[in-house]
Amino acid sequence: MSILKQPVSRLNGIGPKKQEYLRTMGIESLRDLLYCFPREHEDRTTSYTIARLPHGQRAGARVMVSGSPNTRRIRNNLIITRVPVTDGTDRGYAVWFNNPYIVKLIKRNQTYDIFGRVERRMGEVQIQNPQIKRVSDCTKEYQGDIVPIYSKHGRLESRDFERMIKKALEAALGSIEDIFPDEFRKAYRLEEINYCLENIHFPVNGKSFEKARHRLVFEEFFLLQLGLLLIKKEIGNRKEGIVFPAVSQEDILVDILPFQLTNAQKKAWIEIKEDMEKGIIMNRLLQGDVGSGKTVIAALALLKAAANGYQGALMVPTEILAEQHFKTLTDMLSEFGYKIDLLVGSCTAGQREEIYGRIKKGQTDIVIGTHALIQEGLEFARLGLVITDEQHRFGVRQRYALTAKGVNPDILVMTATPIPRSLALILYGDMDLSVIDQMPPGRKKIETYVTGQKSRDRVYGFVAKQLKEGRQAYVVCPLIEESEMIDARSATEVYQELFTNYFRPYRLELMHGKVNTQKKEKIMRDFRDGLIDLLVSTTVIEVGVNVPNASVMVVENSERFGLAQLHQLRGRVGRGGNQSYCILINGSNSRVAHDRMKIMAESDNGFEISEKDLQIRGPGDFFGTRQHGLPELRVSRLPEDIEVLKLVQPIALKMADSPDFYTDKRWIKLKERVKELFEHEHITLGVI
Ligand code: ADP
Ligand code: MG
Repeated sequence: MSILKQPVSRLNGIGPKKQEYLRTMGIESLRDLLYCFPREHEDRTTSYTIARLPHGQRAGARVMVSGSPNTRRIRNNLIITRVPVTDGTDRGYAVWFNNPYIVKLIKRNQTYDIFGRVERRMGEVQIQNPQIKRVSDCTKEYQGDIVPIYSKHGRLESRDFERMIKKALEAALGSIEDIFPDEFRKAYRLEEINYCLENIHFPVNGKSFEKARHRLVFEEFFLLQLGLLLIKKEIGNRKEGIVFPAVSQEDILVDILPFQLTNAQKKAWIEIKEDMEKGIIMNRLLQGDVGSGKTVIAALALLKAAANGYQGALMVPTEILAEQHFKTLTDMLSEFGYKIDLLVGSCTAGQREEIYGRIKKGQTDIVIGTHALIQEGLEFARLGLVITDEQHRFGVRQRYALTAKGVNPDILVMTATPIPRSLALILYGDMDLSVIDQMPPGRKKIETYVTGQKSRDRVYGFVAKQLKEGRQAYVVCPLIEESEMIDARSATEVYQELFTNYFRPYRLELMHGKVNTQKKEKIMRDFRDGLIDLLVSTTVIEVGVNVPNASVMVVENSERFGLAQLHQLRGRVGRGGNQSYCILINGSNSRVAHDRMKIMAESDNGFEISEKDLQIRGPGDFFGTRQHGLPELRVSRLPEDIEVLKLVQPIALKMADSPDFYTDKRWIKLKERVKELFEHEHITLGVI
């Protein structure tokens, strides 16, 4: 067995109890432990003379013990041990709290390298609770380390991890096999794995740390990217995909639509159509800004499947979206006489039975629904096409779960999140990509204004005017996270304030993540049906709901949102004939916040906005690999490491396309590793 796969229990000091505790954190093997990387390092390599020790900081010095230790009990729970030290520049004290045994380790007139917190008080220098190292050869330099700091985990402190990892390294170093062959590492200048795992934890110096980290970031991105490409290969390789020949209904639908498809829609439709007509499985991502018209493309694909005698399923993250799509598609496809069903969690048991029955018997041609579609009991007669909308709410696993209900159905995923290409490749690297990069004509531009806190009165005065004209409005507040004390307005507070000060005659409602799903759906429904005038909420409203009568979107503390997210929020208005407005209340004086908000006011192009946001702030909300059901990123950080990601992508692409990778023995360890990583997420890579 390869050394990294051995259980942590083989290390001294890790008994059954600790093993079990580590297991709850997902640490079972030496690899798990060694890939638990430090949050940061403390550089203890530079030393000071006692005279220059900086007050209030952690620092090191080489000192000689110049007198006898003195231990005193100050209070019941406080014992102080003071040891006088000197180095010729000054005198001082090494001081320990509640560690009287330290005196046993210390000898008078002996020299030590010590490191601890420096306190200067009334002319006295103290180094508190220092680490000490005996110096046997005074001609050698100060022996400081670069010490790893690990995130605390329950009972386990940084020191505990340090100790365990040291032991794991002792056991493993020298015998860890590299997943990358030598030539590969040479070609891309990657350090060898034993060196890297040692230096990411206990670097000799800053440079060795950087080299180690670079390789591990490379490795992490590479494995993820390669795995996704292999999923794609695997699906593409299954030659037995369904062939959906061209049917007249497709053209009829295009003809009877009340509008002309945009060129971007036409192009996307041709790509999808061609995939469907081929005997390979379609696995395609359709990316298009909010309002770019993805639904009609979904309708065309579903119609094509139905006309060929197959069933199509459209899965969306919320009930209200499901209802919305159900209504749109029922209208749009009414000509053709196919049976369309709506399957959501709130269906009664009786309704569900009926729908299940119809789907199983093949009487239903198109079904639209939520997670209810991936329930165990549901069986399809001949599922041929699976579409998911607003993909960023579903994980890779859920997507393939629905697919498993058919025999190699075609897959289409639709998303409105305008992700920069490099990130799209890593989140959706398992798919081909179509983009709708053009808006239908005649759309009124949403007027976007940035104001400061001082103008809130005016802002809400304006909102009141819109409500008076019969429009509806959203007010979005930043999500307050559990324990964080954030200086920003909360939805609850704003709701109270608006209710009391501005909008008494109107119907207000409050919605946030803690409101249960059913209530949330009801609120959204009431808002859609015009029973609510103004909705105060957190970003839970973000996902694709269409309320044409809503004309104002106010965002409180807008500086706290990602631009891509603000853009999504803004897309909630401007869906009807009325001029719509987006007002961003910026609560920050910082230059960065100001610049970011300006981008929002100036651009209405989601891709442009998200590229800029990535540069300024990082990928924000839409980039959580865990949330996408992908392996977690342990060492890489975005956007800092984006250049490494870009470096990795073409290499992974080339590898996935090279026959050599599938046959040559050199790649066995690499393949094994990718497999393990994805199996951990319950995704099987059969191609390798
Ligand atoms: P999204 O891509 O956000 O899902 P939708 O499919 O909901 O966008 O489309 C938004 C609105 O634009 C809908 O009312 C739809 O009927 C309309 N629409 C779609 N395509 C066109 C087009 N080519 N010309 C005019 N209106 C269109
Ligand atoms: Mg949509």
